[in-house]
Amino acid sequence: MSNSSIIAEEETHFFGDVCKNFDYAAQFTNHEAGLLDQIKSCNSVYRFRFPIRKGNHFEVIDAWRIEHSQHQSPTKGGIRYSEMVNEDEVMALSALMTYKCAIVNVPFGGAKGGIKINPKNYTVAELENITRRYTVELIKKNFIGPSIDVPAPDYGSGEREMSWIADTYATMNPGQLDAMGCVTGKPLALHGIAGRREATGRGVAIATRECVNVAEDMEKLGLTPGLAGKKVIVQGLGNVGYHSAKFLAEFGATIVGLCEFEGAVYNENGLDVDSVFVHRKQTGSILGYPGAKEFKNSMEGLEQPCDILIPAALENQITQENAARIQAKIICEGANGPTTPEAEAIFYAKGGIIIPDMYANAGGVTVSYFEWLKNLSHVAFGRMSRRFEENSNQNLVNMVEGITGMSLSPTQRSTIIKGASELELVNSGLEDTMIRSYHEIRETWKNNPKIDTMRTAAFVGAINKIAVSYQNLGVWP
Ligand code: NAD
Repeated sequence: MSNSSIIAEEETHFFGDVCKNFDYAAQFTNHEAGLLDQIKSCNSVYRFRFPIRKGNHFEVIDAWRIEHSQHQSPTKGGIRYSEMVNEDEVMALSALMTYKCAIVNVPFGGAKGGIKINPKNYTVAELENITRRYTVELIKKNFIGPSIDVPAPDYGSGEREMSWIADTYATMNPGQLDAMGCVTGKPLALHGIAGRREATGRGVAIATRECVNVAEDMEKLGLTPGLAGKKVIVQGLGNVGYHSAKFLAEFGATIVGLCEFEGAVYNENGLDVDSVFVHRKQTGSILGYPGAKEFKNSMEGLEQPCDILIPAALENQITQENAARIQAKIICEGANGPTTPEAEAIFYAKGGIIIPDMYANAGGVTVSYFEWLKNLSHVAFGRMSRRFEENSNQNLVNMVEGITGMSLSPTQRSTIIKGASELELVNSGLEDTMIRSYHEIRETWKNNPKIDTMRTAAFVGAINKIAVSYQNLGVWP
């Protein structure tokens, strides 16, 4: 039975959309149909239910863990806590993880998890109970482990949930030296890594910056190169949206619009992201922010004047219904699957560019990879080398000063001498990954005139890399 026939017809569109994009891109590769089918299919679908006590009664929770591809081990992907979660969505997200890891050269297969709850309806104790029980169910079926499958945060989950997962796994696997590598996105104090929390948003901002820095592409869009002064609208003020907005503003862009599910605010002169964030926290709504135009229908916020739109909430936000009204010239997909294939065609026909999700939001998995490496090596990045680097630099500066008679200011001296901290190494590795991957995708796109979108180019690159993995494994001749 094919993957798409084991789920209800009405639920198939997201995984179907990913497969549609895959099939379209596959025509620009030379692999045989069987290999392409193997790459595209979801290998393992684990659907389960478990009861939890809520007050005086029991409630049965629906949950999934789906491993899309084991061409690399472990598999990797976040766990979504949302009442909208369904099997089709988890399949689609697990497939995107496979392609995403290949694009940014992170040696993992793709996976994804889902727990069908609205976290807001549960106490912290109940959420802990649900998360720990979910983890136990994964352990029972061998769907979690540092060399098997490594979850991470996604929509509705964060560091707190990851620490419960790590603790449950370690408790049930006493003496396992690498147990903490069973999950990433953990708090820094519990074997996490500096920079993971903001990594996806930082990556989105770097992806956008790389795109607008290419003068040739900006000329075609009628934009000047560079982020300075570019007007940006961000949808979603969660982990990805908030950090994308923060870093884009830091890189020189002007955040003119912010959209949440209860509404949107817009100010063509710019919004202070932190101040909107605090306003929402204090009042419970993004609406009512002083000095901003507001829209009770959040979707209207996406259609306001801007150069760049960052959808960073959920899938299926830009559809054939609203694509023509989007005024941005560039969409950088912070969320997974925010643009439907029909909307993408409309947007490109208008002359826009879409920086695809599987590259744009890969900063999270890139830094998760660094966290996993840290957990396996049991040493923080920079710990062995920092002091040595500083001493070497100090000797060099002393020598140059002695020979030339120059004397550096204390600031110059400390800038040159300083050894790299874990955060600096993580951010540098992330930036390097995002920059290299952008230009790899762009080269594929520009070198083949038949490849019409950046998404197709990203898929072509991913398919080719995964095909090589299968060939190296000896699974395919
Ligand atoms: P999150 O739960 O931290 O934030 C999501 C935000 O979107 C929330 O503030 C929510 O209120 C808002 N939202 C929900 N529906 C909305 C709507 N209709 N309009 C406007 N805002 C709405 O989740 P996140 O981790 O930021 O994930 C967001 C997206 O990014 C998801 O698609 C996720 O799969 C993807 N993603 C996340 C990561 C990560 O590291 N967290 C990595 C890669 C991709």
